[in-house]
Amino acid sequence: MDASHMGADLESVLITEEEIDAKLAELAQEIWARYEGQDVLFVGVLKGAVMVMADLMRHMPGSVPMDWMAVSSYGSGTKSSGVVRILKDLDTDISGKHILIVEDIVDSGLTLSWIKANLESRSPASVEICTLLRKPDAAKVEVDVRWVGFDLPNEFVVGYGLDYAEAYRNLRVVGTLAPHVYS
Ligand code: IMP
Ligand code: MG
Repeated sequence: MDASHMGADLESVLITEEEIDAKLAELAQEIWARYEGQDVLFVGVLKGAVMVMADLMRHMPGSVPMDWMAVSSYGSGTKSSGVVRILKDLDTDISGKHILIVEDIVDSGLTLSWIKANLESRSPASVEICTLLRKPDAAKVEVDVRWVGFDLPNEFVVGYGLDYAEAYRNLRVVGTLAPHVYS
């Protein structure tokens, strides 16, 4: 789905498809340099990270394995609570492995800091984080994100994996919704 298919629901495009692709290509080079020759596992958090994982991995100049977790953060609407429940755990034993958590967005950072602590408790060699997007509130939380694609203003965004009520994940760009969508 392109921005043009959104009609009046899209307020503005914040990041284009080309900008996302160029940034992921750049991050992939840095990430490859960090993990080349090491036992690395990319861990995605469903469902938002699906697009980032797919495109980041394909920019890698060599093979990398992936695994997925699904979590639900209790809380409603557009705010995170930090109380997390695992809906789907990893298929892989990660002890001794270098883990790269691949995320779509870090907002409060509460979900991510919980996931990072959870993975660290499984004796991996290391746990680092790569996120395509980061919001200003993320700065308030003690979660060290090593690779960030874009810093965003403090607005709710959709597209490229990010949803509003499960809609718009397949939008190719990252953008904001018109106010009428929320009412
Ligand atoms: P956090 O715990 O506040 O960092 O955010 C947890 C999750 O909330 C993210 O992984 C996203 O799935 C979702 N989220 C946060 N901000 C946005 C947004 O602007 N649009 C869509 N989903 C968001
Ligand atoms: Mg997410």
